Amino acid sequence: MASQQEATPALNLVMLGPPGAGKGTQAERISRTRQLPKISTGDILREAVHNSTPLGCAAKEAMEAGRLVGDDVMIGIVQERLDRADARQGFVLDGFPRTIVQARALDRMMDGRGPLVVLDIVVPEEVLVRRLATRRICDQCGSNAAVDWLNVCGKCGGKLVARVDDGVDIVRERLGVYHRQTKPVVEYYEGRPTFRLIDGNLPPDVVTGAIDAALGEAAARGVHL
Ligand code: AMP
Repeated sequence: MASQQEATPALNLVMLGPPGAGKGTQAERISRTRQLPKISTGDILREAVHNSTPLGCAAKEAMEAGRLVGDDVMIGIVQERLDRADARQGFVLDGFPRTIVQARALDRMMDGRGPLVVLDIVVPEEVLVRRLATRRICDQCGSNAAVDWLNVCGKCGGKLVARVDDGVDIVRERLGVYHRQTKPVVEYYEGRPTFRLIDGNLPPDVVTGAIDAALGEAAARGVHL
């Protein structure tokens, strides 16, 4: 008889969307409510830079310039992370894949693991630029945070700072990189039955509701999307 674990299909979720679309916030929420590991390649790289590891030293320059880190490095990081036991029953990927090469590699990693569910969070460009200009993260734990008058992280008490790559010129570069390299990834997935567009130009709770509704409606039909 199949065990309960085998009977529950894995939710292998990919969050797509431009910088500032709210992928990280929504990924965090889904990860918490569905008890799946959130795998954010940006967070992994920022932690490596913070700790000056060899990966961090190699990635720092590209990140600060708003360019992408090399595909081989990124694919290696994600492969290693998905091989860990906590990702066997599913995961929420935030920030990967960002190129067609990465998307093809992820498909190969999914061999025997069930389909990928892909959500593309859509937000108009002028809204993204505005959001990124006011975004703050904690310089200790890296959490995203709303700017408030205390300027301290609600989770750990660390100082809230602007991300080095959220400056106006770098944001322009990151949005250009998104259009050139990551938009084709949306096209790569959009013909699949497991692909959904989500309107991200709404309050975060409303976006979370739309994502839950999309995932729930599909689960009711016995499939993930
Ligand atoms: P994010 O926090 O997702 O906006 O990522 C911050 C930066 O990390 C990006 O601007 C890239 O320099 C780098 N990065 C994150 N994920 C990837 C990826 N999948 N491929 C290449 N570079 C990445």
